[in-house]
Amino acid sequence: MIVVLLGPPGAGKGTQAKVLSQKFGYAHISTGDILRKSVKDGSSVGKLAKTYMDKGELVPDNVVIKLVSDYIVKGHESGDFLLDGFPRTDQQARELDSELKKAQKKVDLVLYFKTSPEISIERLSGRRVCSKCGQNFHIKNMPSKEEGVCDACKGSLITRGDDNVETIKRRLVVYEKETGSLINYYKSQNVLEEVSGNLDVEELFMQIKRFFTKTKKA
Ligand code: AMP
Repeated sequence: MIVVLLGPPGAGKGTQAKVLSQKFGYAHISTGDILRKSVKDGSSVGKLAKTYMDKGELVPDNVVIKLVSDYIVKGHESGDFLLDGFPRTDQQARELDSELKKAQKKVDLVLYFKTSPEISIERLSGRRVCSKCGQNFHIKNMPSKEEGVCDACKGSLITRGDDNVETIKRRLVVYEKETGSLINYYKSQNVLEEVSGNLDVEELFMQIKRFFTKTKKA
């Protein structure tokens, strides 16, 4: 099954994707993670992407599509996968459909995490990320045992460059402008299911797990 997780920044898409991939064996493809990796590697694509990411703007479609198309092909060749943070524009959605169509596949399910802006801002501004293993924490909702230190690998916790209030607000505006229309796009394909991104991690997982069954890899 090919699943898209749709919703504003801070809706909990990445957190749920990690839980779903652990419990059900789905591959997790996050364009944000792929882009952050190219920034870290210092590639030319990464350098270009960083200029947009730092401002809370979307990286141009042609760059993102080129970057993820390999992952999408590998994802559908190996079976079930979750897309987290992609597509984010009409063009990306159409490119995804046409890429999948070549393999006689399609997006089977879109989970739309409807989330209030206040919750997004609260979650993202308090988020801390392990610089070594990428595990997420939250200063209030999910603090690490030792301040500034990852529970899992003892790496140091950092605040993502785009998790400051000003950039978060910009990301939310960009989401409404560029990504909001995908709700209707997928509604018209009859694949959209709305859930509440305002719920906490466990409550939301209880709501969405009914859509999934274990894959061979799980
Ligand atoms: P995320 O980790 O999903 O919040 O993404 C972080 C940033 O990466 C976004 O604010 C964008 O600048 C960029 N980004 C991630 N996915 C995409 C995408 N599908 N299209 C354009 N830009 C993206």
